[in-house]
Amino acid sequence: MDKNDLNSKLILPKEKMQQYGYKIVDLIVNHFENQNSKTPVNQASREEMDVLLTEEIPNNPTPANEVLDFVMDHVIPHSNIVSHPKSFSFVPGPSNYISAMADTIATGFNIFSGGWAASPAAAQLEIVTMNWLLKIFGFPTKKGGGIFTSGGSMANLTALVTARRIKCKSDFSKATIYLSDQAHSSNIKAIKVIGLKKEQIRIIPTDLEFKVSLNKLKNAIARDRLEGLKPFCIIASAGTTNTGTVDPLDEIADICEKEKLWLHIDGAYGAAAILSKNGKKLLKGIRRADSLTVDPHKWFFQPYEIGCLLVKNHNWLSSTFSEKPEYLRDIEGNESEINFYDHGIQLTRRFRALKFYMSLKTFGLESFKKAIQYNIELCEQTEAILRKSAQWEVTSPATLAIINFRYHPINHKLSEKQLDQINQSISKKIVDSGEALLVTTVLQGQVVLRMCLINPRTTIEDINDTLKKCEDYGRKEIQELEILN
Ligand SMILES: *Cc1c(COP(=O)(O)O)cnc(C)c1O
Repeated sequence: MDKNDLNSKLILPKEKMQQYGYKIVDLIVNHFENQNSKTPVNQASREEMDVLLTEEIPNNPTPANEVLDFVMDHVIPHSNIVSHPKSFSFVPGPSNYISAMADTIATGFNIFSGGWAASPAAAQLEIVTMNWLLKIFGFPTKKGGGIFTSGGSMANLTALVTARRIKCKSDFSKATIYLSDQAHSSNIKAIKVIGLKKEQIRIIPTDLEFKVSLNKLKNAIARDRLEGLKPFCIIASAGTTNTGTVDPLDEIADICEKEKLWLHIDGAYGAAAILSKNGKKLLKGIRRADSLTVDPHKWFFQPYEIGCLLVKNHNWLSSTFSEKPEYLRDIEGNESEINFYDHGIQLTRRFRALKFYMSLKTFGLESFKKAIQYNIELCEQTEAILRKSAQWEVTSPATLAIINFRYHPINHKLSEKQLDQINQSISKKIVDSGEALLVTTVLQGQVVLRMCLINPRTTIEDINDTLKKCEDYGRKEIQELEILN
């Protein structure tokens, strides 16, 4: 066969594949080795990207190495490095090499992880790793179950579809759902997707510690019942994205028991902290959820995409999602042989369990525990540094490795508006410099800086270094303000 014949079958000769693959492995290893010396922020405008990347459909082949070099030169560098030790914002993605390679295997072998018949071992590994997670969170392993999803958003959606089905059956016209003003936006998105109207959603205010107000929650439920509505679900946060705050899980579980409501706990950010000493205490009551979202591509150090939904009773998933179309008839199998397409939304699914399995086995759970404990202690150390400084004010204390703070030197009289402006500007300057990814959030009306420290590569030097730079920016900003006055 000549080259063109191979091309038209999308096939490469063996040596080419090897050479290409080895080159890519070297590039990835190089990334893991050298990322610390790069800048974490790499932004570009639409105009710049248009100039760099817009092109017509390529009708004819281009040499593979040429395409690869182009991607390495022009595509990959224009992304933030979310595993960089100075990537403090949003939720970092520390990832790990074993899982990255495991994803390569899953993709390379193109394992279909939808049904038992197509890949019994993939289904079994999903059952095995799900059992590990059920154990970690104190869920029943016999009756309980779960499914890996693309991320926390899909896990939350899968949970709410299930809650609606189990609690409301087919009529949810009067159903109402409750969540706090600090709950993650993906929950509201999911509520919209399941077809609830605005009038069926109750956003409950939080207290000064950003926990849902139990009193207001109870009042809202009582009021809705009086009006003939049908409360069906409370979404509690186990680690809010803003502050790491855990809602009072036990008390909410009590309300759910008494009112016969579904308890969904969104632990996408914080649930993994159960592997640490403090986290275990803070997350007390998490086992009482009917459904729990965990997001291994956050604090279980997995590369994107892997989220997870755990449920108390695996039958809830199958009774919600299973359809029996005639073309899947031959592969239904028996009940213990789980078809994960019957437990969630996707039919064709990538083999997500593999990376979770291989990384946990390779490093051992003890290493994960140590890494999470390190993250939590690093954040507490950061809080101590900020509290001892005359430049900084802590606005929400280190909680599950998240801290919020603002530049607020005690020897200057600054208005709230000026403080907002200064902190916004500090963030903009440090982000523009590329030096660190440190953006603001708003807490109780104040613009504050937020650090999320779940990257085991981050050291106290990285933090001190960043704070120093921020102090310089802040000082200059104040000088400018005072000159203006
Ligand atoms: C990140 C996050 C989500 C969404 O998860 P994705 O994996 O980004 O889809 C949901 N809830 C909380 C609390 C989160 O932190």
